[in-house]
Amino acid sequence: MSGVPSDNNPKPKEDKMDEKKQINLKNLIELSGFDITLDEEEQFTKEISDFLEYAEIINNFEDNGDYDFDTFPEKPLREDVALDSELTEMLLKNAPFVDKTGYFVPPHRRKSGEEEDSAEGENRDDDARDYEAVIGLEVHAQLTTKSKLFCSCSTEFGKTPNQNTCPVCSGQPGVLPALNAEAVKMAIKAGLSLNCSINKKSVFARKNYFYPDLPKSYQISQFEEPICSNGYLEVEVDNVVKKIRINRIHIEEDAGKMIHVGSPGIWGAKASSVDFNRAGRPLIEIVTEPDISSPQEAKEYVVMLRAVLTNLGICDGNMEEGSLRCDANVSIRKKGESKLGVKTEIKNVNSFKAIERSLIYEINRQKRIKKRGGSIGRETRLWDEGSQKTILMRTKGESSDYRCFPDPDLLPLTLDEELIAELKKNIPDLPLVKKKNYMENFGLSCDESRLLVTNPYYMEYFENTLKYYDNTRNAANWFFNEVLFYLKMNNDVIHFDPPVFAGFLRKIDSGEINGKIGKEVIKKSFESKINPLEVIENSGYKQITDKALLSKVIDEILKERAEEVIQYKNGKSNLLAFFVGEVMKETKGKANPALVNEIIAEKLKV
Ligand code: ADP
Ligand code: ZN
Ligand code: MG
Repeated sequence: MSGVPSDNNPKPKEDKMDEKKQINLKNLIELSGFDITLDEEEQFTKEISDFLEYAEIINNFEDNGDYDFDTFPEKPLREDVALDSELTEMLLKNAPFVDKTGYFVPPHRRKSGEEEDSAEGENRDDDARDYEAVIGLEVHAQLTTKSKLFCSCSTEFGKTPNQNTCPVCSGQPGVLPALNAEAVKMAIKAGLSLNCSINKKSVFARKNYFYPDLPKSYQISQFEEPICSNGYLEVEVDNVVKKIRINRIHIEEDAGKMIHVGSPGIWGAKASSVDFNRAGRPLIEIVTEPDISSPQEAKEYVVMLRAVLTNLGICDGNMEEGSLRCDANVSIRKKGESKLGVKTEIKNVNSFKAIERSLIYEINRQKRIKKRGGSIGRETRLWDEGSQKTILMRTKGESSDYRCFPDPDLLPLTLDEELIAELKKNIPDLPLVKKKNYMENFGLSCDESRLLVTNPYYMEYFENTLKYYDNTRNAANWFFNEVLFYLKMNNDVIHFDPPVFAGFLRKIDSGEINGKIGKEVIKKSFESKINPLEVIENSGYKQITDKALLSKVIDEILKERAEEVIQYKNGKSNLLAFFVGEVMKETKGKANPALVNEIIAEKLKV
């Protein structure tokens, strides 16, 4: 199979060609950020059309040994004429320039239409209600392999820039890529979990483009033949379970990371540097069908997808560090219509909140345009956290602009049935299945169960606790109401193991410490990083169950509260709780409340 569109008709249809030329030129102008006059636009249009025509001829060219130059519309040779320098200078007028500190990039000109958009104010949702949103997500997940996808460089995070590089991942000539087996296994696991068919044969392709973070000037990805296709993931929103179909999962390499000085993006940056430590790290890209119909559903899909991937242990799911990145595609259409509208793609949505907010913003922006009678452009837009808006990045190119073709350095990847069957054995239950199990068999609430299944670390801790302790409800109360609060404050680091937590729970059950003190023990334990059992030992927190001792304290209190005692004896029986409270105060919460209750009731019996 070939990545180049195979069109046997040597003369492409004129109208289709023209349309494509237009799109490409507009795209180029947007990309360059140059201020270009209509005259110049016309001139460039002609030059680019000529160029594209040649490209088309080359694509359709079949060398059967007896071709004749005269059959070409024009000779495929260029006159040797140098561009006059005035034109070059003009073209370079706005280009980055160099001084001692680095490249300077001039401020990008504002794109037409942006002002109008931003003037339009907040996310209103008035009478554009007859429109519905259609959303498809592309999620990139960084795989947790030890080494990169095509070389043995380490994937360790936080190393000195460019330390994790070698001739392969820095694009040197004369080297060959060698595929990481573990990355392949991880991609298969993802596919199996997401109900995909695993393709026995998949093909790595080169996706060609230039950017400073891509040393080879092409990314190795899978294009026409991905490793997994046709799956789905179920998500639950407002108690309704919905199937989101997955179109494909493919394996690809990550690009390097650029750091821009003085600006969040390359435009307006004073200087930019590049770190290739990330270049060549394995990713899987999971692409949905346009099945998602609200920002909330989109968020829930990513929450559940993250749960699947982290639970498989193939991705750490850290959105802030970029281990899980999401591009959101969205269009709107009149309710009831089945034809899809023109979509925009939002990049840089790197938190759950951003997924929801960027989509709400973008849907409303599209509705406003429709209401004005405008049309939506096929655009790539950037989610800007600062302004909480999407900003035009570029009008979108066609995938054919990337000239994808099978990588001649890599054999097609073929998988055998045994490997797939082997991996299938260890696929854990899906989050929704687990959730149902927690609710039905463990008596956990819906929220508690959801929290566990979307956080494998909590899930593991909780499940391990239950290996040493069987009052599930009690364990859940202490875990969700107390421990979790401190866990979150501590970046999810807990300093005592499940058996210790189970020991603590048993002390509560036996009445050795009461609930109030238990809470304090957990708090102190997190503050001091000493385990709760030691906290109890060290602080003398043990409950007072010595009947004689308590009796003495109670006598003192009843003496001091003679007036209340008379009221109690006259029938104000709810004062019992007051006396118990006083005893608890006196014993700093250590008295066993049930025992105190019993002794007081006995003493005041009339
Ligand atoms: P592109 O050619 O822009 O890469 P694809 O067809 O590969 O587009 O789809 C990319 C993502 O966009 C997929 O998740 C797909 O479901 C979604 N998508 C495609 N068309 C639309 C549309 N009209 N509205 C919303 N999402 C869409
Ligand atoms: Zn390398
Ligand atoms: Mg695509």
